[in-house]
This record gives sequence, structure tokens and C-alpha cells, in this order.
Amino acid sequence: MMELNILSHEPEILQYSSGLIQIKIPLDNPLRWVNSYVLQHGRELAVIDPGPRTARAEREWELVLQKLGMQVQEITSIVLTHHHPDHYGLAGFFQELSGAAVWMSERAHQEAKLMWGKHSSMSADLPAFFRIHGMPAAWLEQLPGHLDSFLPQVKPAPQARFLRDGDVVPLGGRLWQAVQTHGHAPGHLSFWHAESGDLICGDAVLPQISPNVSLLPGSDAQPLHSFLEGLRRLRELPVRTAYPGHRNPFTHYRERIDALLAHHEERLDTAADLLQTAGPQSAFEVCTALFGGRLGIHQMRFAMCEALAHLAELSRRSRAVPREHPDGWISFAVPE
Ligand SMILES: [Zn+2]
Ligand SMILES: [Zn+2]
Repeated sequence: MMELNILSHEPEILQYSSGLIQIKIPLDNPLRWVNSYVLQHGRELAVIDPGPRTARAEREWELVLQKLGMQVQEITSIVLTHHHPDHYGLAGFFQELSGAAVWMSERAHQEAKLMWGKHSSMSADLPAFFRIHGMPAAWLEQLPGHLDSFLPQVKPAPQARFLRDGDVVPLGGRLWQAVQTHGHAPGHLSFWHAESGDLICGDAVLPQISPNVSLLPGSDAQPLHSFLEGLRRLRELPVRTAYPGHRNPFTHYRERIDALLAHHEERLDTAADLLQTAGPQSAFEVCTALFGGRLGIHQMRFAMCEALAHLAELSRRSRAVPREHPDGWISFAVPE
């Protein structure tokens, strides 16, 4: 790792010899912070994943820019790895202040509309989806308010331009190749610099944390399959240092991918064993068996979507069969 100097602890700004500047934008959830990366080249100032639009993040950026001797108006481009609020949220606000171009994949842009667009029905669709998969009413009632609480974090929506898989993107005076993978988020982009082996990987590969893989109504129907395919593709890149969306840059890139691949196979086996020993189970029953029931609504939503992603993958592999019951609810069983 080539950390040169720590400019400050408060705000946390780390500069690497590659020219990348890592900024830790605080989050109010167990992830603790999201990494924004700043790359400068002459008068070009690019920000990757500016963070959520919260009062805390806005204040942090004021301090960061002051420390760096930069102004928000100087940002020329904002590049988004994916549409999750903790990465995408401030893009539109910064664009309004600076006129910066906002770049993301078209698929990620579609997903942002599905979640928070004018015509989004997710705060009704997700509870309905969870209900047929066995979630009790006490949880369902909390969902619309929980989902709506993210709306202020993603406003205003940016005017985005689209990057495609394989596109070459100039950032910080170097040429980076966009690598699109799915699963953690549809249309997720990583940025690879071949000569140095640097990879800005968003949440596609994280150290310490297993990136959430969610099955959501109206989105990718096989997110775990997509995620595992994406990991196998990313594994082929010769990466020296990975710059993730959470935690710190790391060098054990391929080992980390292997651990994530193995983790999901183990969890698939655990879920299949449960269906074998306990008989047909709803996704909610599988969720509480895998993750426990003592979760807040935020964690419960991710746990439920991840259990559903695993059940979809078991079904795809013919290791589980979904069964629709007369009153509309769905359980999963081992095939006969
Ligand atoms: Zn994410
Ligand atoms: Zn994230």
C-alpha cells in the first residue's frame, strides 16, 4: 500500500502515490463511512461517489474541500460506481453547484429511477413482495417509512451521461477502463488502470464486508448469479491495489474474491440444508434462520432481500422449488 501522508484526521483525507485521494464520508449506519475518491489533473477535478446527501456529509465535504484548497465549483466530473444513496446521493446537488458532468451506467440510472424516480412504486411493491414471502405485518408496516427516509438523500437527481462496459475514462491524468458487473447493484461500474493495477471497485468487492446482494421486485431476477459471475470476471483482472467503496484500500484482491465466492457457496448450502431438514420454508423463515430476527428494519430489509437472492439462486440450480399456496404466499422446498 502506498499511503504517502495523512493530511488530517478530521476530516479523514488519505493521499496515495497513485494520485488518488481517499475521503471518508461519514454514514449513520454500521458501514460507518463511504469512500469518495478525488482525482485531479490540471484544472480537471473528478469526484468518484460523492456520498449521500445528508447534513453530515455536506458538512464533511465543506471541511474536505477547505483542507484540499478546492471549491465545489471546480468539480468538472462526478463518476458514480452505482446508484445506492451512500454513493450517488450528492451527485445531483454537486452538479447543480458546479455544472459538473455526472457519469454512470445506463442500467444504474434505470435502477435509480426504479427506486426513487417520480413514478417509483417501491415503497408499496417491496412490502407486497415481502408479504407473499412470509414477512409478518409488524415488519411490513415499518417498510414504507423506512424506504421514504432515503428520498432526501438522493435529491436532486443528477442529469446523467452514460458509460458503457469497456469505455475508457480519463481520470486524474490516467486512462481507466470501465468494468460493468451486476449483483450488488445492477450496472455497477469499477474502474481499472491497467499499467498500475489500480482498481476503483465501489461495492463490487469489499474487504471485511460481504457486499449485500438483494432480490428486489422489478429488478434483476437472479442477483446472486449475476454477482458471482461478476466476481469471476473481476478476478481475472491483475489488480495490485483495490480502492473500495467502504473500509480501506487493500492488496489481497484475488484472495478476497475467492473468500466471497466461497462464502456464498457455504450460505447456499446452509439454506439448502435448512429446506432439507426443516421442510418447506418461506423466504422470511430462511432469512431469520440465516441472519437471526434481532435486526433493525434497515438490516432486516437487506437480510430479507439477500435470503431471497439465495433462494432464487438455489431455484436456478434446481436445488429448491418455489411453491405458490392458494392464498398467494410462497414457500421453498427441496425438489422431489
Ligand atoms: Zn452499494
Ligand atoms: Zn456502499
